[in-house]
Amino acid sequence: MTNLQFLTHEDLEQIRMEFGTPSFVYDENTLRNKAQALQAFPHAFGFFPRYAMKAAPTAAVLRIFNEAGLGIDASSIFEVERAVRSGFGTESISLSTQELADDFRYWAQDGVKINLCSLNQIQKFGSWKVGEPVGLRFNPGTGSGGTNRTNVGGPSSSFGIWKDDLEKARELCDQFDLQVERIHTHIGSGSDPEVWKNVAGMSLDLVRAFPSVHTLNLGGGFKVARMPDEVATDLQEIGESVKTIFEDFARDTGRELKLEVEPGTFLVAHACCLVSSIQDITDTGTDGYRFIKLDAGMTEVLRPSLYGAQHPIHIVPEPEQLSSRKTVEQVVVGHCCESGDLLTPAPGDPEELAPRKMIEGEVGDFCVIDSVGAYCSSMTTKNYNSFPEAAEVLKKKEGNLALIRKRQTFEQLIENEVVP
Ligand SMILES: *Cc1c(COP(=O)(O)O)cnc(C)c1O
Repeated sequence: MTNLQFLTHEDLEQIRMEFGTPSFVYDENTLRNKAQALQAFPHAFGFFPRYAMKAAPTAAVLRIFNEAGLGIDASSIFEVERAVRSGFGTESISLSTQELADDFRYWAQDGVKINLCSLNQIQKFGSWKVGEPVGLRFNPGTGSGGTNRTNVGGPSSSFGIWKDDLEKARELCDQFDLQVERIHTHIGSGSDPEVWKNVAGMSLDLVRAFPSVHTLNLGGGFKVARMPDEVATDLQEIGESVKTIFEDFARDTGRELKLEVEPGTFLVAHACCLVSSIQDITDTGTDGYRFIKLDAGMTEVLRPSLYGAQHPIHIVPEPEQLSSRKTVEQVVVGHCCESGDLLTPAPGDPEELAPRKMIEGEVGDFCVIDSVGAYCSSMTTKNYNSFPEAAEVLKKKEGNLALIRKRQTFEQLIENEVVP
């Protein structure tokens, strides 16, 4: 049997029978292990890890991380609400958002922390006179990400206050009597560890400009290795070097800064797979391709279509059929009427088909897409072609499978429609 990380063939059968395909399946043990590994991040003067919940915001996942002692990085006021409803205290949530909703003032009064991400946000929050200290998110001028689309620092990125606007930011904060206690940078997902460390150094220069700052949040972006040829960021290694620059900073300035990081991908990427079924096969001849068509696609896993992201894919026939199957090159596509609904693009090029050598798939086989915990279930073309949203299941630490999000019903899919 192929390497399915945490699922057995019996699990697959049970998932098909009980929950249907496609279903996302999360693994509680992996979630807990990753949270523990993050808690061990080296630090000099205190540390608070947050979970960037936009990666996978389902309540059952949030609860596990709450129990593991993580805080929350929210990207919208709706995520704040979701975190609170799943049990997080407001004081453990921080918001860094592109859209600062007017209602946020009430959450701020309730203790949710804000990282103001633009000059306009400073002005807006300042005018509310909430009286709580704030954080400022800066774009340090350098970014790094696996692709241009996941790079969120540098001049072509809109995230954060541009570094050269530091003086303007400071003046605005003075004008509104805002006390700045946190500086925040997040430069991208899947970022280069060397760039990440450099930005940590540059962020300390921002901290120098704000004497009241006691916490530096360096965002997330730790690279994980989904495919065998990818290299994961070593948290201990970058943590040690960040610890050293914090210690140097303390020697220079007498200021002992607390560290925060807020990964999404690192915590959940490997903790989930999508269990789907092969529902059709097409072959376009000797100059063409053998296409494996799933009962899932960009409606569940959009990253390949968006970034040319690579995910391990396992075709799983009945165990007794395994010996009679060859290994052949195949292209795996989704169920949407959209040629971009492709699960095996060339790395970094969503437009190019890249056939993969896999067990020859047949209709009815399972097809398991691995390492889909981050930005898959939460970032889809939901309901395109009117396919209902997939179910989510948790493999609990005791080994049993529990439903954590029901499959969307057809009624739910059309419930907001009004015919005038
Ligand atoms: C998305 C995001 C993160 C998490 O990024 P990962 O690459 O998933 O670790 C952290 N902080 C902020 C502000 C983000 O927008």
